[in-house]
Amino acid sequence: MATYVYRCDTDGPVDVPLPMGTAPSSLPCPRCAREAVRLFCPPRVSTGSRRIVEAIDRAERSRDAPEVVTRVPGAGARRPPVATATNPLTRRLPRP
Ligand SMILES: [Zn+2]
Repeated sequence: MATYVYRCDTDGPVDVPLPMGTAPSSLPCPRCAREAVRLFCPPRVSTGSRRIVEAIDRAERSRDAPEVVTRVPGAGARRPPVATATNPLTRRLPRP
């Protein structure tokens, strides 16, 4: 999916998500149903992964309004227990 921009005489620029390569030169405005003409600009293409999009949005928000924390992230968190070898043959091997 890509987001294309159309200009409606009543509503101004309107974003319309359409499959790539299927954007007509004009279509009915999704707000008022009048004819909207496509503005020729590069389509905004989604990266596909919602996690990536959320991370990018969070990074962009932090430019103007960084999140305020009261403690160091991760401090006080309990570490997971270290896995121990259960096989007696591998107990003497060096550990990282
Ligand atoms: Zn409209």
